[in-house]
Amino acid sequence: MSAGLTARGVVRGFGGIRAVDGVDLAVPPGRITALVGPNGVGKSTLFDCLAGATRPDAGRVLLAGRDITALPDHARARLGLARTFQQVAVFPGLTVEQNVRVGAEQRRGGTARALLGLPAPGRAAARAATDRALRLLDLDPVRDWPADRLPPGTLRLLELARALAAAPRVLLLDEPGAGLDLAQTARLAAVLRALTAEGMALLLVEHDVELVARLADTVYVMAAGRMVARGPAREVLADRRVAAAWGEP
Ligand code: ADP
Ligand code: MG
Repeated sequence: MSAGLTARGVVRGFGGIRAVDGVDLAVPPGRITALVGPNGVGKSTLFDCLAGATRPDAGRVLLAGRDITALPDHARARLGLARTFQQVAVFPGLTVEQNVRVGAEQRRGGTARALLGLPAPGRAAARAATDRALRLLDLDPVRDWPADRLPPGTLRLLELARALAAAPRVLLLDEPGAGLDLAQTARLAAVLRALTAEGMALLLVEHDVELVARLADTVYVMAAGRMVARGPAREVLADRRVAAAWGEP
């Protein structure tokens, strides 16, 4: 039984198109795994199958060895799976702090906790998780701002903070580097490294080759719904065929 998140033979089609066509993927704890490839090859569709936003037509998704293929996203969240969206999704009417608090509340009364017979962590723990996530992503200075007043890069960090506040075991990030300035990118990289050092399993769907090269332990490359390469980041990114699949000159 493997820890982390695993996809086995995942297929997902739309009409006649097989957006994801029989894909295997492993997202182990304590590592950063990156999924790369040009637009339209099925990265987000695979990501949605992993997160539970959509159901695969065939294949299985396992979380810590448990088959979660049939579970909806909120049930997966209770088991310790968190995600962010390519198009940032926050509650615009809530403040930064309230948005992060929503994430922190998701950890309360979780199934894993109930199975272990542990008490719900309660308000103080939710507040502490919120504060920690705000601090980690340098959102303290804007904690009372309405979310819809944040610039795009800060919004993306807010979405990450909300995911982190749920204290996930597995974190799925769709293009976390998009719209970030240099300082924010550096902070993102530092935070993601710290999280994996704590044993979190991270999957990054990312366009920014430099960010992937800097961060990822293992890189998977998709083309036309299939995995065409996979291996240590340095080797995979140096492969010319991979650059071709990516669409880089
Ligand atoms: P990527 O994230 O790599 O850019 P996507 O997973 O978004 O790729 O898309 C893969 C393919 O599936 C594309 O051809 C896209 O048009 C198609 N697709 C994705 N989502 C849908 C949908 N909800 N309905 C119909 N086609 C879709
Ligand atoms: Mg996408």
